[in-house]
Amino acid sequence: MIRSESCRARYLSSFCLAATTAASAFPALCTTAAIRGSATSNSRAAFRSCAPPRCTRGTSTSTRTHASTADCGPMTGDCGALEVVRVPCLSDNYVWLLREPTSGRTAVVDPAELHPVVSELERRGWVLDAILNTHHHWDHVGANLDLKRRFPSCDIVGPRADKDRIPGIEVQVGEGDSWHLGSLEVRVFDTPGHTRGHITYWVPQAGALFPGDTLFALGCGRLFEGSPRQMWSSLSKLLALPDHTRVYCAHEYTAANARFAMTVDPDNPQLADRKMRVDAARAKGEATVPSTLGEEKATNPFLRPGAPSVRKNMGLGPAAEDWEVFAAVRAAKDRF
Ligand SMILES: [Zn+2]
Repeated sequence: MIRSESCRARYLSSFCLAATTAASAFPALCTTAAIRGSATSNSRAAFRSCAPPRCTRGTSTSTRTHASTADCGPMTGDCGALEVVRVPCLSDNYVWLLREPTSGRTAVVDPAELHPVVSELERRGWVLDAILNTHHHWDHVGANLDLKRRFPSCDIVGPRADKDRIPGIEVQVGEGDSWHLGSLEVRVFDTPGHTRGHITYWVPQAGALFPGDTLFALGCGRLFEGSPRQMWSSLSKLLALPDHTRVYCAHEYTAANARFAMTVDPDNPQLADRKMRVDAARAKGEATVPSTLGEEKATNPFLRPGAPSVRKNMGLGPAAEDWEVFAAVRAAKDRF
């Protein structure tokens, strides 16, 4: 882990406008001391409106192949570090364990099942401090209450806009809010479309994005509760993030997505190359997640409505709005 003191000082000085926590039980500690404080104080330091990212350079990671569970890091940046562990659940879900190594604070993103998560935590000797939910679907919140019983002090964090559908939610977050895992800031975007209350978590210091079912490797989520225009607006927020950002989506759908992508963007050489790598990985039982946002920008047809080739294959010309092209691609995938 690399932790530059000057960078850390800038990071600390970037806080705090106003505490916006919805959880009155966890008062905002909007002071440098609180952020610098002990491991136990940090994760409850609540939600803030924050300055733009300061330190996102230097992210690197190597993803090992997995038979069951795999480390996807550690990832290091100038201002912090984040360990990410992939825990396969159900038939094709990926649940992510996050750990800030300095404080030891540990969170899980979208726990689908209890036992795979608990067994991985126990294997590593980690104690769960927080559950981060992106949306209410059962394969993302299925273990919330069982994990809370197992780790009574852990906080259940989820979308304010969907608070009535997140089991056990204690801390409500939405667009512009920020939460902390130890010294690491976790920012929140509202990304409706797949569901009306879907949110995405971004750890700028680690270059890590947890988009749930909003963005997949070579795909995006179905529009169960939102419009194409709304989903395109959500995806556009993620497109603004740096190319090195790792995309830790919630499902292993990449091979099927690649087959569809080739029908939309068949002359894209980067897509063809990626499809070969994806197929080779899946043939060996290897995971294809995480990808990078740069890869997605270059090859994911749902993120490329401006590409002339995508427009041509969708029967749309230069006058069409990006969201209209996106809508056509999404509709084609629904029929695929
Ligand atoms: Zn879902």
